Amino acid sequence: MHDPVLSLFTESLGIEEPWYVSSVEFSREQKRLDIQLEYRKNVQFPCPQCGGTNTDIYDRQDHSWRHVNYFEHQTHLHTKVPRVWCHDCSRDSNGVRLVDVPWTRKMSHFTKLFEAYVLQLAKDMPVLAIARLVGERDKRIWRIIRHYVDQARAKEDFSNVSRVSIDETAIARGHKYVTVVADIDERKVLFVTPGKDAAVVDTFVEDFVSHKGNPEQVTTVSCDMSPAFIAGTQKAFPSAAITFDKFHVVKVLSEAVDTVRREEQRKHPELKRSRYVWLKNPSNLTTAQAETLGTLSKQNLKTVRAYHMLMNFKELWQQPKAFAKPFLDKWYFWATHSRLKPMIQAAKTIRRHQQGILSWFDTNVTNGLIESMNSLIQAAKRRAKGYRNVDNFITIIYLLLGKLKLHLPT
Ligand SMILES: [Zn+2]
Repeated sequence: MHDPVLSLFTESLGIEEPWYVSSVEFSREQKRLDIQLEYRKNVQFPCPQCGGTNTDIYDRQDHSWRHVNYFEHQTHLHTKVPRVWCHDCSRDSNGVRLVDVPWTRKMSHFTKLFEAYVLQLAKDMPVLAIARLVGERDKRIWRIIRHYVDQARAKEDFSNVSRVSIDETAIARGHKYVTVVADIDERKVLFVTPGKDAAVVDTFVEDFVSHKGNPEQVTTVSCDMSPAFIAGTQKAFPSAAITFDKFHVVKVLSEAVDTVRREEQRKHPELKRSRYVWLKNPSNLTTAQAETLGTLSKQNLKTVRAYHMLMNFKELWQQPKAFAKPFLDKWYFWATHSRLKPMIQAAKTIRRHQQGILSWFDTNVTNGLIESMNSLIQAAKRRAKGYRNVDNFITIIYLLLGKLKLHLPT
């Protein structure tokens, strides 16, 4: 019997032979669509274990899957899935196995298309909002995302990686951190792990090697000036040059400028709430902030002097390589004679890490990578109003920045 409506459903659901849609039940009140599937008689299902077709159907089990909505109707597929006895590899009654059905993966309550839809949403939307939108519990949504991310990560190949950046990012305000390792050339996240101590570099190397990465081949490691990362890197990648990129170096000085400002604002209340005036690039200031900067700059303030030191330092990266060292020496003399304690301290930190700062002129690590990754991670965190669960946070970072090849229907 050929019913054109059922054929249409079979086709639009992407259901393939020997399966077909046998009936469709539509409930206007429940806004729900229930679709029954059947398979052709006399089909020989292959054994899911060995792939052979020397099988008999043993029994059938009821199964249901959530599918993508049809015109705002919750859609569910139902069928009896055969279990087969394989004459080649089943030995006893425990050898009876559920056959593979093409629209879902094993142990999932959802069709592959539904899961693809969820993953697409997860790139822009917090999981709680997805759960509300599709009417499923967030735990189930997380399980889907984690499955595809883990599967794709298992297939990652790091054999061509030679330049990496290591950075930490806070999972919640202040406390917990994760460390993010990225491939500088492919601009993608390779690895994320909880913590920010020297051991995280060891954990990374372990994962790196298990994905065919070669530590000897790593020539450049870009990181911040934390002693933990430096020690871990020197041990794990003995042939790598450590580069402290612009973003992290400037951060040390920005913090020093802010310390000067906070001390000074006790006598100069006009400095209150001017933090970002000094920290943002002048081109990113709002009109009001630019006006504040203009007014304050005319006064004889310590903060203004510190600010000029910061702005001047940023010009280091525009110097030709041969002038970089003399530039830094001159700047160091100026900063250490400023009588501004936070600036003197920052200058000494910079001097101690001079080699890794100047190595940038050989390695030319793109400064934008870490900054842009950081801002994408922070944006995801804001959308989700923070993550309480570290594993979920890590999964989302992989999904957004891992450039993973997710195994999904299109
Ligand atoms: Zn078999």
